[in-house]
Amino acid sequence: MSAFLSATAARSGGRCGLSSLGKSVQDRDLWLVTVGNASAPHFPDPAYPSVPYPKPKFVYIGAMHGDETGNLVVLLRLLEELCGDTSRDARVQLYVVPCMNPDGYVLGQRWNAHDVDLNRNAFTDDDFPYARPKLDELSSFDAEAYFFLTAGGTHMEPETQAITSWLSSLRPTLSANLHGGALVASYALDACDSLGRDMSCDSVEAPLPRFLANAYALQHPDMPRSRSDPDGWGRFVNGTTQGARRVRGAGARGGRGEGGGWLGEGDGWYTALGTLADWAHWAMGHHMLTLELHETKDPPPGPGLARLYAANRASLLRLAEMSHLGMRSVVLDAATQAPLAAWTALDGPAGMWPPQADAAGYIWKLGVPGVTYSGVLQPHDPRDPSSRYASIPFRFRVRPSWDAAVRGSGIAELAVVRTLLATRLAKK
Ligand SMILES: [Zn+2]
Repeated sequence: MSAFLSATAARSGGRCGLSSLGKSVQDRDLWLVTVGNASAPHFPDPAYPSVPYPKPKFVYIGAMHGDETGNLVVLLRLLEELCGDTSRDARVQLYVVPCMNPDGYVLGQRWNAHDVDLNRNAFTDDDFPYARPKLDELSSFDAEAYFFLTAGGTHMEPETQAITSWLSSLRPTLSANLHGGALVASYALDACDSLGRDMSCDSVEAPLPRFLANAYALQHPDMPRSRSDPDGWGRFVNGTTQGARRVRGAGARGGRGEGGGWLGEGDGWYTALGTLADWAHWAMGHHMLTLELHETKDPPPGPGLARLYAANRASLLRLAEMSHLGMRSVVLDAATQAPLAAWTALDGPAGMWPPQADAAGYIWKLGVPGVTYSGVLQPHDPRDPSSRYASIPFRFRVRPSWDAAVRGSGIAELAVVRTLLATRLAKK
């Protein structure tokens, strides 16, 4: 795989870059391939064509589980196509980690070389969002909490540490991690409490996570018809599900008892504590989907594997385009046109995440069709802390309908783009 990635990057004419995010337990590189020139502006405001709006950043992470091999092949095929097509205009800055668990891949096992499930490993004591469960207080019904505490929930493994610290510094707009064993796009949250018991909880950003799952599933030829995983667990709607929800009739998985709160309708699957997607939600305020791309974990070589990329290609590209959906703004000093930083607050809808901002004055907020977002930006100049600026109210609603956005292609009208000019106030 290392040789393939090196050759793919070398053939790209500078379009793709290869770097290592760190090492696995057995000293294998965690390769990252970037697609597109990160410094090239794209999608400027027509009124301010010289303002360098950065492209949104999208991350795909493959093979967290070493025995789920088909999704790795899909990502390598994606890179082969995108890096090979130097005429293509990148609409999104794409970051691909084809294999987060190279040791598990070589060993042919789900876990890393320390026998830890990397998708139950993404919280430390400091950032676990719930009261931390204690092993000696668990009952036999608390199977998920028991598994979390004994299989990776106490510390981050080297692979998880490398990926989470990189994601924290990169601050991508949107991301997904890839799996096999079912055909479904799963959205946060994967658990609602410290025991993995509570059965119904939406993200504060709902219905955006479900919308994003639909954007992947409905571009796929087979996923919308997927009703459950091959063992019959779960109930998928349009090929989507929420991990934290469990549906009646899905069985007492893992010896779990009633647990309370079985849901009789809608989608659902099984709870999981310590997933990378839930860590992204709680620790970063970031949307990450968990995509299950193939019902057979380790698909044999042959026509089925060749078709796997073809089946997922449109979905992979559409989900990446969704990183344009919402508000994209740059804040400039009205007099000098210098970029400013900004503090952000969201007034409505109540409880949703505020826009994100970087030090170069770029501000972004993903928005779901049908919802109006409003709030206030407070510009400030980190180089001149004594300066003061008038606050700037904002209000936006994306133009495409839910259906047009999930079934369409291209980025036209997905973003509400605004260059905001901040008025400097007299010093006190
Ligand atoms: Zn998996």
